[in-house]
Amino acid sequence: MRTPTNPTSANHILATIPKKVLQTMQRNLNPVELEYGQILYEPEGEISEVFFPINCLVSLLTSVDKKRSLEVGMVGNEGMVGMPMALGIRVSAVRALVQGAGSVLAMSAARFRAEFKMNIPLQHALFRYNHLLMAQISQTAACNRFHETGPRLARWLLMTSDRLHSNDFRLTHEFLSHMLGIRRVGVTQAAGQLERQKLITYSRGHITILKRRALEGAACSCYRIVKDLQDSAQG
Ligand SMILES: [Zn+2]
Repeated sequence: MRTPTNPTSANHILATIPKKVLQTMQRNLNPVELEYGQILYEPEGEISEVFFPINCLVSLLTSVDKKRSLEVGMVGNEGMVGMPMALGIRVSAVRALVQGAGSVLAMSAARFRAEFKMNIPLQHALFRYNHLLMAQISQTAACNRFHETGPRLARWLLMTSDRLHSNDFRLTHEFLSHMLGIRRVGVTQAAGQLERQKLITYSRGHITILKRRALEGAACSCYRIVKDLQDSAQG
């Protein structure tokens, strides 16, 4: 995937920072390519860097009983990975896993702490984003409890597509089963149903969204609720 010519404008947090302030901040932002499957933080692990995604996607996962894990949040270019740092916390509560390879702008934790203290526009942008991320996580908690696998899978595919800006991405059944907290056979059944409806194709770990509008119709209401909230916040 190509990195945009102006990466700071491609990340919605950085795009809100006035040019002059951003120029100073930019000295401490390092462009980095993240790979699919890379782990950025572990639960209870120290946060050594924060990341502003440009065109990659990071999943936030919580595990139970040390073996089963579930995705509780998703971060793309609308946000920042490492939000505890904006709340004065230096350890992660979740595992942060790169789900879509691509570019980020990274900043060391020490630089971020210094920057955050004096950069008021950054504070405002991250407080607002914190609210959006909390809303996404809360909605996902209810979604996991009340909605069926098929509509949840459709929602998840749309959220992924929005953040990767692509209708075509890589996914294995195993990965999806971790993301949705269901068995692989459940993934096969739900994906098969969407394929029969000709909304997606899914083969050899690659998924393609064929009919986006119709897939939105197949997704649970959680997709729209979070998307509308995010769109209005970016107004
Ligand atoms: Zn739902």
